[in-house]
Amino acid sequence: MSLGVYVCSGCGIGEVIDVEKLAAKFNAKLHPFLCSSEGIELIGRDISEGVDKVVIAACSPRVNTDVFRFEGVVVERVNLREGVAWSHEANEETQALAEDYIRMGIAKAEKTELPEGEEKVVSRTILVVGGGIAGITAAIEAAELGYEVILVEKRPYLGGRVVQMYKYFPKLCPPYCGLEINLRRLKENRRIAVFTNAEVESISGEPGNFEVSIRINPRFVTDACTACGECVKACPAERPNEFNYGMDKTKAIYLPHEMAFPMKYV
Ligand code: SF4
Ligand code: SF4
Repeated sequence: MSLGVYVCSGCGIGEVIDVEKLAAKFNAKLHPFLCSSEGIELIGRDISEGVDKVVIAACSPRVNTDVFRFEGVVVERVNLREGVAWSHEANEETQALAEDYIRMGIAKAEKTELPEGEEKVVSRTILVVGGGIAGITAAIEAAELGYEVILVEKRPYLGGRVVQMYKYFPKLCPPYCGLEINLRRLKENRRIAVFTNAEVESISGEPGNFEVSIRINPRFVTDACTACGECVKACPAERPNEFNYGMDKTKAIYLPHEMAFPMKYV
């Protein structure tokens, strides 16, 4: 390990701290403007000669993050500017504080190692939760870009609130107009798996590697349904119609709407 320590005297640091004394104590290189191209070159030269850990005692690590970035090198930033010079008066205690800050920075840099890269298998399947118009569009767009998509909708049909509307402004068309094209794109795309009556139960893992449990609630009508409508004639019970704010009723077995996807009774 070869460690380089650099002290900046700019931004008022040199007016509060005896930077020469500080640099001498830690065998550091002193610069009046470390974030300038000259200052960066000074550090870069040392890195090319073998320094693999650098301690930069200057401004807050929240600033100049893009400037003090050196590939393959441990970089430890010591906040002399905001943490010491700008918040304390010039005296012996402040000088000692600056020394402590640098000591801590050196200790941290010495114990820090660069993380080793690791190859991970990342899942490229996309889960879209909610089969309203936004979810349908997201699923189609992602699938048409080549991703496998799982679309989960808790209602027994896709289309969400939009499909429940009578007409939409300004064209005053029924919502089926736009929805029909999207449902056709969705049906034709084999990369999209649609689960209706389904809810996400749990999500765990991390970006690129999530595990998701989906609970599929019963539809009480099998996939063999041909939507012939005969069951409606025989059904004795009724339920509020959510397509009409519950102001009228449908039979307990019903087709959600005339373009329902999937085209099955519930
Ligand atoms: S911004 Fe940071 S590195 Fe640049 S002169 Fe000020 S304290 Fe030094
Ligand atoms: S619409 Fe009703 S009767 Fe016809 S296949 Fe579907 S469940 Fe059976």
